[in-house]
Parts: sequence; structure tokens; C-alpha cells
Amino acid sequence: MRVLLLEKRPFADDLADVAVRTIGVLEREFGPYPYSDFAIVEVPTEPAAQSGFIGAAYAGYMLVRSDFLASTKADVGHFGHEIGHQWWGVSVQRSGDAGDYMLDEALAQYGALRAVEEISGAEAAGSFRSGKAGLGGEENGLRLIAAGFTYPLGRLPHEAAAYALSDAKGYLTYDLLSRTMGADRFRSALAEITREYRNSEVGWEEFLRRLQVHAQQDLGWFYNQWFGRKDAPIVELRWQRDTALRVTLLQRGDPYRLALPVVVEYADGSSQVHWLDTSSDSTTVALPADQPVVRLLLDPRNLVFHATVEEWNRARSLVPFTRGRLLWDHGDAAGAEAAFLGGLDSVPVPDVAGLEFLLRLHIGWIAEEAGQPDKARRQYQKAAQLAARPPEMLARLYWNFSKLARQRGDLATARWAATQVLAADAANGLPPRFTERARQALDETGGR
Ligand SMILES: [Zn+2]
Repeated sequence: MRVLLLEKRPFADDLADVAVRTIGVLEREFGPYPYSDFAIVEVPTEPAAQSGFIGAAYAGYMLVRSDFLASTKADVGHFGHEIGHQWWGVSVQRSGDAGDYMLDEALAQYGALRAVEEISGAEAAGSFRSGKAGLGGEENGLRLIAAGFTYPLGRLPHEAAAYALSDAKGYLTYDLLSRTMGADRFRSALAEITREYRNSEVGWEEFLRRLQVHAQQDLGWFYNQWFGRKDAPIVELRWQRDTALRVTLLQRGDPYRLALPVVVEYADGSSQVHWLDTSSDSTTVALPADQPVVRLLLDPRNLVFHATVEEWNRARSLVPFTRGRLLWDHGDAAGAEAAFLGGLDSVPVPDVAGLEFLLRLHIGWIAEEAGQPDKARRQYQKAAQLAARPPEMLARLYWNFSKLARQRGDLATARWAATQVLAADAANGLPPRFTERARQALDETGGR
């Protein structure tokens, strides 16, 4: 393990530690690490940004851009993904067009999920899968599908939206497949593939065939449903309690075959998980319930890719934002700004999902990166005044606002905004992303 940095960094040991642990996790998932050594290599921000990447994986090493390294440090999800590519995309490559992104990108992201689950725990894995932690996940997948960027995973075209879909719905489908056929059988199949196709190429059909051989059950329905369909299951949970607890799962549209966890929370603080099968538009089961029920939660750890009715409505109302964000993620700032500005004309009343907040945050953010701090500040101020502010993006808004204030020497505002970052980061129920930076900013501008 080597860590090659451009400057001394206090978290250099953490980088090596997380990388070593991640390789350990992924060897259990994918088989022996395919190279003799691994190195993390920092590259300067400017040239890397010009060629449009924040990180990349090569045989036996990964490149990380300076600014990205400074902000994410030893992020387990990021390392899990890039190290996952050592098996998928670097050693085992794809032959043929089918399986584009699924045989490399989605498997690398599946590795990221496994690393997060093993190293950071089940709760962190739940928020990773949700997509609310700022990485690909269920919410991103639903937004892409709602915005019409939707293709069968088994036939993804080579374009930005398909890449994003593989990092959202794609790896979640592998997670589901692992649970469906059994984690050990899934691991055995992947280890066999990485052994036999080491430094070679495998086709999508052959990949699926190998999984089928290990599955000990027919996967035809799974392949058709998850790799052949391009929509998402939309599921509504209803329940009532009389002599028993009656739970109904309603599906919209052509029903999926699903096994969904339902968590029943009782008045004494205890809870119980029931796995419910559904394959029709309405399924009702009676569950035992000896004591008062407080509430039922449908798949709170996002184990099965699906939308609730509320999530689907939210994804649909954020379509103008999704379109712009996709452009921005792939380097088209001008196109993204035009999409965000256009979206301001169609903000629904009431704007429950916080579309205007997301649009103004991003118009400001693009202006900030283009060196237009006054324009950025005006947009951030308008966003901060809105009633509907998606909690997972609030810390980002105040962090950007704080940085701008500090740049123009307004330390009082910078400090006030940094304290808002701490509150927003602590209140959103996700792993903190800006807290450390905000604390550091408070220290540097006169103590906490
Ligand atoms: Zn990747």
C-alpha cells in the first residue's frame, strides 16, 4: 500500500487504513485482489478538472484530484468504488455492447456499498442506498426515471444519464440479486468470474449465465424484471388494526414481484420486521400484534429499489432540477444554468418538494464557481428564505454562503452561516458532510 500525495496531509494514514480495510472487504465479495500492490495517487486539481475527472482507477492504483481529496478525505464510499474497479473495469473488462456500465460502473458501486456496510455499519449503508447522502442511490434513480432518462439496465446506451442510472438503480439491483440468490452464492459466482476472466473480457450474457449457475433457483423472472424493465415499482403501504394487524401493499402499474421488509413499531419501543411478498396490484396479509402499534415503516433501509407514492410524486416534481443537474455533473455548466433558470418558470404551487430551493442553490453554485460571488449570494439568500428546503441540501447552501462571506471579509456573516451548517448537518438524519469543515472555519475565524 502506497499513498503518494502532493503535500503533507493530516489524514494520510486514514487513507491507507481505509484502503487496506476496503480491499479486505472486497476480496470477500469479489475474490482475490487482482494486482500485487495498490497505490493512492493525488493529482493536481487544474489539469484533472480540465480533462473532466475527479478520480479514476488503473491497474494497481487510483488517481484522486486534490480538491476532491481535501473535501472527502478517506471517504469509504469513494474508496470502495474506485478500489472496486480494480476487479471490475480494470481486470475484468466487458466484451460487446450489452452490459455497458453494468459490468464495470454498477459493480464498482456495489463494492462501495459493501465497503460502507462492513466498515461504517448498517445505518450508513441505508443512507448510502437512499441516495440522500449525496451519492448515487434510490432517490437519484427515481429522479432519473421520472425525468425520462430511463432504459433497461441490460441494454444501457453509452451516455451520461445511463451512467448515472447504473450508479443508482444499477448497483441496487445487484444488492437485491445478492439477497435473492443468497449472499454466499452471489459471492461465489463473482469470484469465479473474476478468476476466469482476470485481465480479460466477459460478455453480459455470459456474466448472467454464471450467476444463474450458482443461484440454485430460476433467475429468469429477476433478469426480465430488473434488467429488462425500465420503470420502477411504486408501492403504497396501508394498514389497520382490528383483531389482527392487516397490512396492504398496493402497486401502481404493471406489478413487480417483490419481497419487501415492513417494520412494525410498538408502543413499548420494540419493533419487528416482517418480509411481505407481493406480485399483484393489491396484497393483504394479517400479522400478529399483541400490543398497540405506533407506526409501520416500508423498507426504511432502502433494501429494495422502489418508490412510495410520495417519493414518486417528489421525483416527478423535481424533473427540471434533475435535467439541469445531469448536465452540470457532466461538465455542461451553461446548459445546466439554462435548465435551472427555465425550471424557475414552472415551480408548482405549493412547492412541496423544494424545487425552487434546489434550482436557486444550483444557479448560485454555478455562479460561485464561475467567479460571480454577488450573483451567487443573491440566489443563496432567496433559497434560504423559502419554506420548502430539502434538508439533505441545507448544509450545502449555508456552507457555500459561509465561504462567500469569508472571501469578501464579512467574518460575522461567515461565522453565522457556519453555525447554520452545523445545525443543518446535525438535523438531517444523514452522516455529517460539512460539520468538520464548518468547525474548522469557525476555529480559523476566531474560535467557536
Ligand atoms: Zn466508476
